Order: sequence, then C-alpha cells, then structure tokens
Amino acid sequence: MEIKTFEEFDLDAKLLRAITEMGFEQPSPIQAKAIPVILEGKDIVGQAQTGTGKTAAFGIPLLQMIDTKNKNLQAIVLSPTRELAIQIAEEFRKLSKFSHGIKILPIYGGQDITKQIRSLKGGVQVVIGTPGRVMDHMRRHTLKMEHVKMVVLDEADEMLNMGFREDIETILTAIPDERQTILFSATMPRPIMDIAKKFQKNSEIIKVVKKELTVPKIEQYYYEVKRRNKNEVLSRLLDIYAPKLSLVFCNTKKGVDELVEDLKGRGYFAEGLHGDMKQQQRDRVMKRFRNGQADILVATDVAARGIDVDDVEAVFNYDLPQDDEYYVHRIGRTGRAGRNGKAFNFVFGKEIYKLRDIQRYCKTKIVAKPVPSVHDVTSTKIEKVLNQVTEMIENEDLETFITYIEERVNQEDITSIDIAAALLKLAIGQGENANDATFDFGETGAQDGMVRLFVNIGKKQGTRPGDILGAIAGETGISGDLIGTIDMYDRYTFVEVPRECAKQVIDVMKDAKIRGKSINIEPANSK
Ligand code: ADP
Ligand code: MG
Repeated sequence: MEIKTFEEFDLDAKLLRAITEMGFEQPSPIQAKAIPVILEGKDIVGQAQTGTGKTAAFGIPLLQMIDTKNKNLQAIVLSPTRELAIQIAEEFRKLSKFSHGIKILPIYGGQDITKQIRSLKGGVQVVIGTPGRVMDHMRRHTLKMEHVKMVVLDEADEMLNMGFREDIETILTAIPDERQTILFSATMPRPIMDIAKKFQKNSEIIKVVKKELTVPKIEQYYYEVKRRNKNEVLSRLLDIYAPKLSLVFCNTKKGVDELVEDLKGRGYFAEGLHGDMKQQQRDRVMKRFRNGQADILVATDVAARGIDVDDVEAVFNYDLPQDDEYYVHRIGRTGRAGRNGKAFNFVFGKEIYKLRDIQRYCKTKIVAKPVPSVHDVTSTKIEKVLNQVTEMIENEDLETFITYIEERVNQEDITSIDIAAALLKLAIGQGENANDATFDFGETGAQDGMVRLFVNIGKKQGTRPGDILGAIAGETGISGDLIGTIDMYDRYTFVEVPRECAKQVIDVMKDAKIRGKSINIEPANSK
C-alpha cells in the first residue's frame, strides 16, 4: 500500500481542517488517485466499488475550486436519486464546514419547487440534483448555467439505467464548454463510455485496480447490525469468544476514540491507536497491548500498519474497510504462525454489497451469523467455567475446599448445589458485588443513591411518564416502586433509577422500544 496523506494535495487549510474533523486519516485509494487529477483541472472517468469514498473524491476538489466571493452557481452534481442527492449534500456540508461563504443545495423531485427557487435566489454555488428536477429548473430559468465550471455525474451507470440519458445530455449541452466534466460510476458499460466521449475532453480513466488477493485461511463471519448496536454486539462477541488479544478496526480516528471510551465504560481493557497520536503515546499503547495489560486494540488502518503482534486471535471489522486490499491486510493480523484466528465483520444496511465484493475479489467465504443474544453470552460463560471446573476436579487437590463446603452445608439449611450455583454466578461476573453499583456515571444530577438518565422521547411523541415507567419495569424486571422522579419534556425525558440498576437499565433499554419507537438512553448531564 502506497502511503498518501491529504496534506500532500495542497488543499485549502479550511478544507483540510474539515477533513481532519471528519476523522479521515488518509485518502482512500480512489481519492488518492482521483483528487490530484481533478485538482489539475482534467476530466476524469472514475470507477470504484460502493463504499470506497467516491463522494469525497469529487467533493474535495470541487469545493476547493469554488470561489466563495462569487455567488453564482459554479458546480452541479447530478445524482440518480433524492436520497443520494441529500447524502452528497450532507457530506459536502461537512467538508465545507469551515469554508464560510459556500452555499450547497440539494434539489430533487417531490420537494416544493417554489421553496427551492427561493433558496436558489439566495445565491447557491453548488447544486446537487436529480436530472429531472434540474431540467425543471432549467426550463424555469431558475438555474443559471453561465458560470458553471464543473459538473459531476455521480453513479452515472445508475442514472442511465433509470432512463435519464436524454436529460443528462440536455443538461450537459446547456453548460458552457470550458467546464470540467467528472464522471463516477461503479461499472463501465458502453453507454457510459459514449457519454464520456461525447461530453468530456481527453478524459483520464481512473480505476482502482484489483490485484489478486489471497486471504489467510481463517474463519470469517459477518453480522448484520444496526449502527447503534455495534458496541453491544462487539461486547457480546468479546465475551463469547474471549480472544486473548483482539484487534478492532474503525475507519476514522473519531470512531477509534469513541469506541475505546465505550469499551472502557463497559469494563474492557481497550486501547486506541491512530495517526494523531505521538510516537511516545503509540509506543505506550503497543507496550500495554503486547504485555497483555490491554487485550483489545482499536485502530485505524494507517495506525495498524506498523504493528506486529503475533497472538492476535480475533480481528473485528467494526467498520468495513474502504478497500478490499485493506481487508486482507486487516485480517492478515490474525491466525499467524499456524494459530487459530477469527475475523468478525459488522455490516450495516447496504454494506452487504461491499461484503459481497470483498468475498468476490478476495476469493474468500464470509459466513453469516446471527447476533448472539445476552442469553448466549451467559450460557457460553457458564459452559466455560464448568469445563474449567471439571478439569480442576480431575486434576487438582480440592480437599481443603471440600472441608469448607461441608462445614457450610452442615451449619446452614443449604445444599452443596445451592453453593455451587451461587459460586457459578459469581464466577461469570453476575454476583451482587460484581453488579454495576460502582460503575461511574459521572454527575447526573440525581438524588443520592440514584442515577438520572436521559431518554430521547417526550410528550411530542405521544409518550406519557407511565409508558417510560412501564417500559423500564417491564424490560428490566425492576419493580416500578424503585424508579424515581420522571421529568417529561416535549422531546426528551429524565428518569431516575437506583444506582445499582442503572447500568442494567441502560444496557437493556438501549435495544428496547417505547410505544413502538427505538430510543436512546444515557446518563444525564448534571442539572
Ligand atoms: P461511495 O460513494 O464510493 O459508495 P461514499 O463516498 O458514500 O462511498 O463513502 C462511504 C463512507 O466512507 C462515508 O461514510 C464517508 O464519509 C466515508 N469516507 C470517505 N472517505 C473516507 C476516508 N478517506 N477515510 C475514512 N472514511 C471515509
Ligand atoms: Mg457514492
């Protein structure tokens, strides 16, 4: 892998700052190749699979060339669907967060056109639109093309499949010839090349070439998870498989920091590694990981590049990698020297297609697995402990301990089975003191002995305090009497629960619904 940085592109400092804030650590392969060429002013045809960062590949050079003092329309992005138009606009807004004076507007069918016209009159430099709606505005002369310097066709193959060919040609014809024309597509069928030939000048074809990739023979699984459930699923897998050392990959630095915080909060020994850290910090983290003081290392691709640890038993792709090659690099960190290794992939929504591509290009099989339930976690833990127990009974001298048990059984009205059960509960970490009474929720503004929780649902959603009480009592089995003050506002609610139940309430309620709505629940900030 060639190392490239965003700094090398000679970008505006404000743009670079936004990229850093978004947590992008390095350009993805298509970005590394396309950005410099687009910045030179050349036309390109870019081809890369989904999820490889194509939006920023054209978004970064596009935003770089916008003249903020000029309030005319300067760039148009055509997108096949309104959802995509909105997504692109969102990514552009993040990228231009610090570049004051850039106005971006998505325009698509189904939205009130007079509203769009009003927004356009306010001086919009970048429009992201579906072809039909762009045509509509052209007819009404509400989109003026004279100053357009760049036009991007995103998901061009998709637009052609949807029958937008004529519209696209009309739009391209209406934009001045001196413009730059950028075309992105996941596939390169004939009609795309025709458009390129007709509307581009000496365009350069930029592809992320696929190398033959060989994946080490390790077990690979995937789990379909909602984004907000990733942390919970990760902890369950960590509990079930109990890998000696695990490596967890996130795509952004921000992702690494947030996940490490969360895992620490859940009581895991996790450390993060990313490109923003000083060498000294990285050395410290690696030392803790090597000597087992931390058994989970959360890292970005860049940061993980240099590390060389042999007994990593599990690799988690918390975020799927931006490139197939990264996948191979990532999972190559486990199963070394003939050891058993496992790779776990989290897949969210459409990412399933990316996974399919990875399997195809890496010629490997990634097996679907159901998300383990809390019950699975408990039974795995129990089984493990009981196996250890059987082994101890066979191999170790337990006489002294037997004496203690006998004494208790003789003195009190309990059986040895009662004792065994209680010890088992202790051993899997569900004993009373192992309960989360000591968990630090910070200052939540609750009465003594209570923790105040924030729930993102309120009166406006048609909820009543009784629903919150009922849901918590019902889902967690905690008696309703124990639940304290409930303060309900329009869009959120505060509820106090006993400190020793707070962690359980949060864990259980995170996956629960109140009045059919998924909720977010967390310790409140102090009043
Ligand atoms: P594509 O258009 O190729 O399907 P997107 O542009 O939608 O892919 O990008 C997929 C995701 O990757 C987005 O969440 C985006 O913010 C993120 N992303 C893009 N570039 C980078 C990068 N260099 N590092 C980390 N994440 C990135
Ligand atoms: Mg895209």
